[in-house]
Amino acid sequence: MEKLLLLGAEAIAQGAIDGGMSGIYAYPGTPSTEITEYVQNNKIAIERNIHRNWSANEKTAVEAALGMSYAGKRAMACMKHVGLNVAADPFINAAITGVNGGLVITVADDPSMHSSQNEQDSRFYGKFAMIPMLEPSNQQEAYDMAYESFELSEKFKIPVLMRITTRLSHSRSGIKRKEIKSENPLTYPDDPIQFVLLPSNARKRYKGLLGIQSSIEEAAEKSKYNKYIDGKDKSLGIIACGIAFNYLMENYPENNCPHPILKIGQYPMPYSLLDKIVNECDKILVLEDGYPFVEEQIKGYFDKSGKITGRLNGAIPRDGELNPDIVGKALGKEVKQFFKIPEIVKNRPPELCSGCAHRDIYTALNETMKEFGKQKVFSDIGCYTLGALPPWNAINSCVDMGASITMAKGAADAGVRPSVAVIGDSTFTHSGMTALLDCVYENTPVTIIIADNATTAMTGGQTSPATGRLEQICIGLGVKPEHVRVLTPLPKFHEEMIKVIREELLYEGVSVIIPRRECIQTATRSKKEQRVKAEEVTQ
Ligand code: SF4
Repeated sequence: MEKLLLLGAEAIAQGAIDGGMSGIYAYPGTPSTEITEYVQNNKIAIERNIHRNWSANEKTAVEAALGMSYAGKRAMACMKHVGLNVAADPFINAAITGVNGGLVITVADDPSMHSSQNEQDSRFYGKFAMIPMLEPSNQQEAYDMAYESFELSEKFKIPVLMRITTRLSHSRSGIKRKEIKSENPLTYPDDPIQFVLLPSNARKRYKGLLGIQSSIEEAAEKSKYNKYIDGKDKSLGIIACGIAFNYLMENYPENNCPHPILKIGQYPMPYSLLDKIVNECDKILVLEDGYPFVEEQIKGYFDKSGKITGRLNGAIPRDGELNPDIVGKALGKEVKQFFKIPEIVKNRPPELCSGCAHRDIYTALNETMKEFGKQKVFSDIGCYTLGALPPWNAINSCVDMGASITMAKGAADAGVRPSVAVIGDSTFTHSGMTALLDCVYENTPVTIIIADNATTAMTGGQTSPATGRLEQICIGLGVKPEHVRVLTPLPKFHEEMIKVIREELLYEGVSVIIPRRECIQTATRSKKEQRVKAEEVTQ
């Protein structure tokens, strides 16, 4: 079989393609973006015309993937952990409707918040939805699990959650590929009202979901990804979940861990194996990246004697990403600090690129706001969030995708004047449009700046459904055309920008200002690509 050197995210993409996937739906978000990007550029995916365009947000991604599954095909939806909050509604309900073709929701968690606003652990969502979960410990397992996940989903007729973390997603290792499967043919669900969650039907479906829980548990007990590895020294038993198993084994390069290990890669938790390790060993150390998901559950289930240790009692730090040193320390080993962060990658505060259009927007906005006072600018998530840092100090909030407009609305309702929101073009279509509709509905006096850089810059330059049509969308949602103002954010238009911003800040209604200039990173990249293409043609 062919061998490839892949990032964990790419291994999942390759596994899904080889496993017969017909469509991937995603909104970009670090550390999950590379899964979809890999499919977009993959030869088989292009030949098979696997659906691989970006979705407006994570909720639409899960719903579209569910629609593809409804039609009998295998589909995947991908997102970062906070995206699962956006997609929570269809995610939970998909477990009740069940699926037809295999449906896999891949979520990349970000312990240590390398590029996220929180550390949340998606395994809680999987448990909440009562569906099987897979958590790979390395790139090969990421490939194998993605490859097999559609069958697991089809076996139980419910979605499967695949959970990875940043380190696995963004590190590279060799994987062995399996035989490429064909795509499923179009078929429709056997039960014609399965996907209609009217209360009477939803109750029936929910009972069905509860009814298969013991079979899902049994499958986890028998899963090859859950393994009991015996050890002579039973003074300690170690439960290692997902990538934590890899970190554990890095502490034993000779593969000679003296303690029994329970490796967990598939959930619900394998209780008979847990029984075995808890009963056989004097103490238990739980290693898991993210929240103390397993530890909390087994403490409730088993712990009468205080023998279970992990994140909850401080044996492992309660927050932050795991690494082999932390694991080594918890094992009582002498830690040599292999993982010291080099100076060159330490403490690099992010900043807007020089020449970025957001610099010019914030310079003009700050100057205008001097007249109106502080604490009145609500921002969203994107490169422009960096406007919170010096020298701009231009924004006063950043909570979640789409929150800028609705927070500005609430502040305006409370009497704040002017109340300003700053949002990007991609974030606006992600979840800003409905917020704008709320403002239009009540003619709330807010000024919304949609910083249009024609791309989703923060995650590397993905496309967005807003490109080229922001004005029409805003007018279509009910903003008066004379209060949709387009600007070019360049120093030479500084005075004009101040004039327009000031006029709209004084307007007692909904106004939208669209400063439009392409992100210089994507502009440079596309120029380079065009040059390479032109050179290829002339050769
Ligand atoms: S990537 Fe683009 S949008 Fe982001 S800071 Fe740089 S130039 Fe600005």
